[in-house]
Formats: sequence, C-alpha cells, structure tokens
Amino acid sequence: MARERTADEILDLLRDEGARRLRRVVLRDNRSTIWSLTQGGTVLNLHSAYRLAPPSILRAFARLVREARRRSPAYREARQEVADWPGLAPELNRLQRRHRRVRAPHRRGPGVGPCCATPAQRVYLRRLYRYLNATRFGGRLPRTIPVRLSNRFSTRLGQMVPGVVDGRPAVLEIALNVDLLLKGNGRQRLDTLLHEMAHAADYLFDGAVGHGESWRRWARRVGCDVRATCDAPIRRRRRGARTVFRVPPLPRGWRARAA
Ligand SMILES: [Zn+2]
Repeated sequence: MARERTADEILDLLRDEGARRLRRVVLRDNRSTIWSLTQGGTVLNLHSAYRLAPPSILRAFARLVREARRRSPAYREARQEVADWPGLAPELNRLQRRHRRVRAPHRRGPGVGPCCATPAQRVYLRRLYRYLNATRFGGRLPRTIPVRLSNRFSTRLGQMVPGVVDGRPAVLEIALNVDLLLKGNGRQRLDTLLHEMAHAADYLFDGAVGHGESWRRWARRVGCDVRATCDAPIRRRRRGARTVFRVPPLPRGWRARAA
C-alpha cells in the first residue's frame, strides 16, 4: 500500500528531480482536470489521487514540468505516463459519482456542468455534432459526446472538457454558450463547435490540450478558424433573459450524413 504524500513532500521530490522552476504544488479534488501548470510554470495543480502515486509517476511529473515549454517528445511521453497511471481512474470516477449525487436535484443535462438546453435544442446539438463528425472528421470522433448549452458563460463561447474514463482518455463534454443559438450567430456557432471538436480530436488522438501545433493541424483540416480565441463579437440575448429557446436550422444535407 503506497503512502500518502503531502503537497510539500511532492514539491520537494519534484525539485530534487530537476523541476527547479516549481514553487508550489496544489492538490485538488477535480472531477476532470488531472493536472495543470499555472503562473508561468511555477505552480503545479495536481489531482489529489497523485498523493498516492509511486516515485516513477512523480519523476514523470518532474519531466513534464521541466519540458513543458518545449513540448518535446519527452514531455509527451511523460504526459501519457501520468494519464495512464492506474491509480487515477478509480479516484476520478469516485469524484464524478459523488458530484452526480450532490447535483442530482438540479436540472442537469449531459456532461459535467448544468445544461440549459430544451429537449428540442438537445436533439439539434446531437444531430449537428453527428453531421460535423461525419462530414469534417471522417466519423473518427466518438458517435456521441455530451454537448450541452451554458447560460453562464460570459465571454467564453465554448469549451471541451478532457478527462479519463476507465483508464482511457475521454471527452467529458463540449459546452457551448447558449447565445450561439441566436439568429445571426450561425457562422460562429459552427466555428465554435468545430473548434471544440478539434480539441476533442487533438486530445483523443494526439493526447494534447491547448492550441498547440497539433490542435492547429486539426483546425485547419476541418476548416475552422485557427486563431485560439474567436474574438468576433456575437449577438447576445437581451439583458435579463435567462436563456435562448430558439432551435436553429440544421445544415442542408444533415439527414443523409447524421441519421
Ligand atoms: Zn480552444
């Protein structure tokens, strides 16, 4: 049975292994994010499951921190190694189950956050996702990924949440800003969903997150804007309106490709 380490003990170990830039390790009970480097690579936010990780996994984290800027092959290998650690999946699943129980009384949709989509909007999103998967991704993405609508995003248009399910990388959700369903936002709606689906492909097939070279390759391939943030303004619902009920039309030809 492995011994639990504190954040400071992990920090000392990683610094001994050459992660000298590191100033702090923060252990978190996240449901999906397994690790992240913040504050210019000086703070490592670590899923609390790793407090039980063996020294080999902590050495892989040290390599991650050391190589994070270069995204070298060693970095990619280390990233895979820590994601594949068998101690992680049971803990993630436990936290996700607990979260589902706690949040059960609320109106919840698919994915990890609250969904404000109407049933008709959900059907629309599912069909649009399948259509784009068939026509732009050659059907390589999973047949279903939870696509939810959020009325809580302010400037953000969308997000893809990567995670690990049963020890394998999985997309926990794609979330879109509900305002994208307003009339006049058709181009950004499509572009945002493609942007997030490109993140999904990048994570599932290249093991990458963020807007690096591999994501840009996917974005170019499927024909969405390769700038990391889409800063074109979109139409917003009027102030005080809680959500959008509109169901936009599907692209022509969706029926043949997404049924
Ligand atoms: Zn993005």
